[in-house]
Amino acid sequence: MRSADETLGCAGPMPSYHLVTFGCQMNQHDSERMSELLEASGYVACDGPEQADLVLLNTCSVREKAEQKLRSEVGRLGMLKAQRPELVIAVAGCVAQQEGERLLKRLPQIDLILGPDRIAELGQALAEIELGAPQRVLTGFDMEEPRFLSANPGSLGADPSAFVTVMKGCNERCSFCIVPHTRGPERYRPAAEIVDEISKLCELGAREVTLLGQTVNSYRDPEQTLEREAPGTPWQNTTPRRAAEDESEFAALLRRIVRQVPKLERLRYTSPHPRHLTRSLIRAHAELRPLVGHVHLPVQSGSDRVLRRMLRRYSVAEYRERVAALAEAVPGVTLSTDMIVGFPGETEDDFQKTLELVRDVQFAGLFGFKYSVRPFTPARNLEDDVPEQEKTERLLRLFELSDAIRLRHLESRVGGQETVLVEGRNKRGAFTGRTQRNEIVHFEAPGLDPIGLLVRIRIEQAFNNSLFGKLVDASELPKERALPVTPQRRALPVVVA
Ligand code: SF4
Repeated sequence: MRSADETLGCAGPMPSYHLVTFGCQMNQHDSERMSELLEASGYVACDGPEQADLVLLNTCSVREKAEQKLRSEVGRLGMLKAQRPELVIAVAGCVAQQEGERLLKRLPQIDLILGPDRIAELGQALAEIELGAPQRVLTGFDMEEPRFLSANPGSLGADPSAFVTVMKGCNERCSFCIVPHTRGPERYRPAAEIVDEISKLCELGAREVTLLGQTVNSYRDPEQTLEREAPGTPWQNTTPRRAAEDESEFAALLRRIVRQVPKLERLRYTSPHPRHLTRSLIRAHAELRPLVGHVHLPVQSGSDRVLRRMLRRYSVAEYRERVAALAEAVPGVTLSTDMIVGFPGETEDDFQKTLELVRDVQFAGLFGFKYSVRPFTPARNLEDDVPEQEKTERLLRLFELSDAIRLRHLESRVGGQETVLVEGRNKRGAFTGRTQRNEIVHFEAPGLDPIGLLVRIRIEQAFNNSLFGKLVDASELPKERALPVTPQRRALPVVVA
């Protein structure tokens, strides 16, 4: 499969496109679907905007300055368009949904504005523009009949790692987050469709699937074919009523996937919401072999005061209790998280509580961000009162702590053996893959081609973000073929939930 920003030279009679992706894995997934739709319409991917007939910007509005970045990008493209008026400029993603017509007024060079729920209409809209139709704005949510685009089997190669969307939108109202505005309310994909797509991906060579959704573990089957499990042992820090509300059908979905797709080696999901890390989900982790020993569980702050202002709907004690239960049920599980520093009203004391939580949970990965006001969010009414320099200093202190924890964690793996799913090669030509706990492992295997296979690696060295090791047994690995394909490096989630 050609990844969204992997490009080819373009020359020849076919129309060409250049696609640029900003933001999270949902956007990356959307870009892959848009690439497939464009290629089905006869477009070929292209090295850069200079030669392209169509430039498509898939935007993200979670972090600040998204629109300024878009404006400067469109400004540059506008100069190209002045020389080549036939160049089509399209803007997709969250900024497109958020701004719609307003964007067109501010940036009249744009030909097409396409919200995330209107991706299926991309080919038709471009055909109309080519025939001389005026600029189009396609936004709004598909509330009645939600569409979930599957990967086109024809575009899939031997990519060992695939993404499958199980839900979209978000019913939470975290006060800092623009996602409910840009992606709309939660809509779920039928369980049967999800299982079917995963089966097809595994038939085509996928070994690992990551389930995607803004709050992926709030999943419920719209066709009501799954049964919600009982909450089980009560939580000390969550009332039984709340605990029952937090239960979803996500654990039942995981069980069905594992039961019906025996070829699936590894199952991941992102991003879960802490309040749906329920007893049933923890039981699923303990019992389902393909479910990996890593969870990215965004917490955002270690202070109850700040969590309340963020409208996160859990306390630090609830978060701690749930991750402790997970760690007990799944020995060796690794956790990563997202953290915001400098949220309105965050004091040094609040920040110390964040550091304390990071120290206690020992997150193996942490994505930290400085708070910035986003339009259409409840927090825009709060005074952004933490000085910028203070935000920067807190972020640096947070990174200093989390870097030290990650390095210690990686060093603890040295001397052991890990099973690694080989995803491709790194920039230096060594092979690279992940353990089921999500540690990145590099190794060399001259003359061999282990991409897509699970191999045993003896870990010899720890770096800041990864491990290096040696193959334990190379005897059964296939020989290197002609030029190996390097799949797009997957990144841990950078956004939300
Ligand atoms: S941070 Fe996550 S859970 Fe909260 S509103 Fe945004 S997408 Fe929803």
